[in-house]
Amino acid sequence: MILDSFKLTGKVAVVTGCNTGLGQAIAIALAEAGCHVVGINRSAPDGTIDKMKEGGYRFLDLRADLLNQTQIPNLIKQAIDEFGRIDILVNNAGIIRREDAIDFAEQDWDDVMDVNAKTAFFMSQAVAKQLIKQGEGGKIINIASMLSFQGGIRVPSYTASKSALMGLTRAMANEWAIHNINVNSIAPGYMETNNTAALREDAERNQAILARIPAQRWGKPVDVAGPCVFLASEAASYMHGYTIAVDGGWLAR
Ligand code: NAP
Repeated sequence: MILDSFKLTGKVAVVTGCNTGLGQAIAIALAEAGCHVVGINRSAPDGTIDKMKEGGYRFLDLRADLLNQTQIPNLIKQAIDEFGRIDILVNNAGIIRREDAIDFAEQDWDDVMDVNAKTAFFMSQAVAKQLIKQGEGGKIINIASMLSFQGGIRVPSYTASKSALMGLTRAMANEWAIHNINVNSIAPGYMETNNTAALREDAERNQAILARIPAQRWGKPVDVAGPCVFLASEAASYMHGYTIAVDGGWLAR
C-alpha cells in the first residue's frame, strides 16, 4: 500500500534546533510518523519535551552550541548509545543577522556561516559515516530558505549560508546516493517564528511580504512538517539533491 511507504515506524531521527519554531514542528511530526527523536539544542526544549511526553514518544534531549563543530562526534555517540542507530538527520538550526551589506560586520558573517552552513555540513558528514556503516541508507534533510534562490534584503551572510546549503545539498547527494542516502532540502517561505519576528513587527515590510505571497498568509511551522515527513520516508527514495519550496507560492510569482 502506498501510504505504508510514508510511515517512519522505529526510525531514529536527529533534529537540530527543535526547542521552537520549524524544528519543533518537524520533531513532533517525525515522532507522530513513528520516529524516536534525538533533539540537539542549546536552549532547554521544554515545550517539545512536554509534547513528546503527551504523545508517548521517545525523545533524547541533547545540548550543544552548534556555532562550532567540536561536539558533533560526542552527539552522534550519545544518539547511538541511546537508540543503537540513526536513520534521519534534519539540519534545522539556523540564525540570521540583519544589517546593510555596506556595514556588515565580519562576526555576523562568520557566526551565520558557521551555524547555517559549516555545522550543517559536518553534521551531515558525521551522520553519513554512520549511515554508510549501517549499510541501509538514510535521509538527510536541510532547512534552506527562499534566500537559497534569491538575494534578500540586509541579510548577506544569511543569503550566502542558505545558498551554500542548497549547493551542499546537491554536492552531498551526488556522493552519497550510491549508499542509498537521500540528501534533499526544504526551502520555507515566510514563516511565523522567532526568525521573522522583526519583519512581522515592521508594519511596512509585513504588508509588502503579505502582498507578494499568493496564499496571502505567513506560513505556520506545521506547514513544513508534511514535506519533511515525506522527504524522510521511503516515498522519497528516488529524490536526490533537490530543494523543495514550501512558500505559499512566493517563488512562483
Ligand atoms: P527560530 O525559531 O529562530 O529557530 C531556530 C532554531 O535554531 C532554534 O532552535 C535555535 O535555538 C537554534 N539555534 C540557533 N543557533 C544555534 C546554535 N548556535 N546552537 C544550537 N541551536 C541553535 O527560527 P525558525 O524559523 O524556526 O528557523 C528554523 C530554520 O528554518 C532555520 O535554519 C531558518 O534559517 C530556517 N528558515 C526559517 C524561515 C522563516 O521564515 N521562519 C524561512 C526560511 C528558512 P535557540 O532557540 O536557542 O536560539
